[in-house]
Amino acid sequence: MAETRDAVVIGSGFGGSIAALRLAESGRDVLVLEWGGRNTAKDFRQSWDPRYLQTLYTAVPSSDYEALFRYARTLGGGSVLFSGMMLRSPSEVFEWVDETGYKPWPDGITRSLMSPYYEKVEKMMSVSQARWDEVPAGGTFFAALIQAAGKKADRGRFPYVGCVQCGFCEAACIYDAKKSLILNYIPAAEGLGAEFRTSCKAMTIKTEGAGYRVTYRDPFGTTKEVDAPLVCIACNAVEDAALLLRSAPYLDKLSDQVGRNFTNSGDLAWLWLLKKPFYENMAIWRGRTNAVMQTYGWWRSHLIHMHTGSTPPGIFGGLDVRRRGGGSPDLSWGLDHKHFAFEVYRNRLVPCQLSGMVKGEGTVRIDGTGRAIIDLPVTPVFQAYMDKVRRVAEEIAAASDAEVLDVAPRGFERGGAHLQGTCRIGASPDAAVCDPYGEVFNYKGLFVTDGGSVPSGTGVNPSLTISANAERIAEYIVGNVKS
Ligand SMILES: Cc1cc2nc3c(=O)[nH]c(=O)nc-3n(C[C@H](O)[C@H](O)[C@H](O)COP(=O)(O)OP(=O)(O)OC[C@H]3O[C@@H](n4cnc5c(N)ncnc54)[C@H](O)[C@@H]3O)c2cc1C
Ligand code: SF4
Repeated sequence: MAETRDAVVIGSGFGGSIAALRLAESGRDVLVLEWGGRNTAKDFRQSWDPRYLQTLYTAVPSSDYEALFRYARTLGGGSVLFSGMMLRSPSEVFEWVDETGYKPWPDGITRSLMSPYYEKVEKMMSVSQARWDEVPAGGTFFAALIQAAGKKADRGRFPYVGCVQCGFCEAACIYDAKKSLILNYIPAAEGLGAEFRTSCKAMTIKTEGAGYRVTYRDPFGTTKEVDAPLVCIACNAVEDAALLLRSAPYLDKLSDQVGRNFTNSGDLAWLWLLKKPFYENMAIWRGRTNAVMQTYGWWRSHLIHMHTGSTPPGIFGGLDVRRRGGGSPDLSWGLDHKHFAFEVYRNRLVPCQLSGMVKGEGTVRIDGTGRAIIDLPVTPVFQAYMDKVRRVAEEIAAASDAEVLDVAPRGFERGGAHLQGTCRIGASPDAAVCDPYGEVFNYKGLFVTDGGSVPSGTGVNPSLTISANAERIAEYIVGNVKS
């Protein structure tokens, strides 16, 4: 017999934990199903060993194997593994009209409407601007490049308190200096009686009576069921779509937009190679994973935002670094490459990570076993976007006598961890999966509260906008949906 709850939340990342807390505050009996394990600081390690990382991450290559997407599989989701930059999206994001004339953010959801929700999250997670003495060497080099190109860089905002700059943010923080959800929203929800059941993967959702039946696999692989009138899906944009597509045989009035409009937030990454270091005796790769400095210098003109980070040896080793005219074989491996890395790694390579506004033309579908497959083709729209970004990257390089290094088959690395759009909110089921409050069209009481419902790229790193949107949707549910 199925268990019964007032509300089931699927996933415990930003979208799930925020919904769980607000529903628990409203007096509901909440069950959170989380695929990953209950890992805390004592379980984390300062290691890039793939055997350790695979206990916390899921990695999925694009169907053409040109890009790699990674997302969290642990209690607290991406908040445990992210590199911490939490920025409010600029107002242009909410007004943006894509290359086909479609406006992803529904009318009425503006930056000023979002401000109180941003504030709520920042307060809960102790987000503040990094201090100048917290800027690692890499941030200083990045700022020097940006300044030479005539623009300004400034410090980003992080949920970090007492960071010792060990550089293992993306392997999870053993010091609890990163104030992830396992230190705020989750204990607060648990304190109000919400249950976070870990190592439990939701497989399908069906209608049942006046609500829904969620079928999941428990840690022992046993299939279990739980019924609730209210279900919030928050598995991240890729797994949200996979879950709804697995459920499509039982939810036959879903919009055909499920899994479409997938965006990686326009993320592109590359390296600048300096001919001469700006400063001697500096190790650019040291310090926190996100090297703090970021720039809106090309936001108004190009709708792009850039920041920098450290490139741990393990990540550098995995990049397909191509040197144009670099002499003997132009390969990202071998003795010549080893000498190259030895020569430049310490203080001549400056990584750039960019987000920007471009139409989400990717798709998430499922294979015969129900697993997610991601297509992110380089369409003419995406190619034009990459060309625009390349012009900016080259302009910045030219101002410092540097070179843009290709790091992937098409130049820029275009996978990443900023995933949105597959269950987007919108005005009608012809173009969107959920209404503006995240409720799935034709399914009362079924909501998508995480990055899946965020309808476009966020211009900057997305976690704060995903979180603010979750607060907005949760407030709507508490005020408008009866248990
Ligand atoms: C290495 C890395 C660095 C990043 N750095 C930054 C950064 O600096 N700034 C920033 O803004 N963003 C960053 N991000 C992105 C950010 O973490 C994500 O945008 C954010 O976590 C997405 O929130 P979400 O709630 O949509 O999903 P997640 O936080 O991914 O949460 C989804 C949860 O659902 C669980 N789940 C999935 N499927 C199921 C299922 N079927 N049943 C039950 N549970 C399920 C997962 O295990 C996971 O815990 C980074 C991400 C990564 C991976
Ligand atoms: S760099 Fe700071 S926040 Fe990141 S893991 Fe180390 S102590 Fe934690």
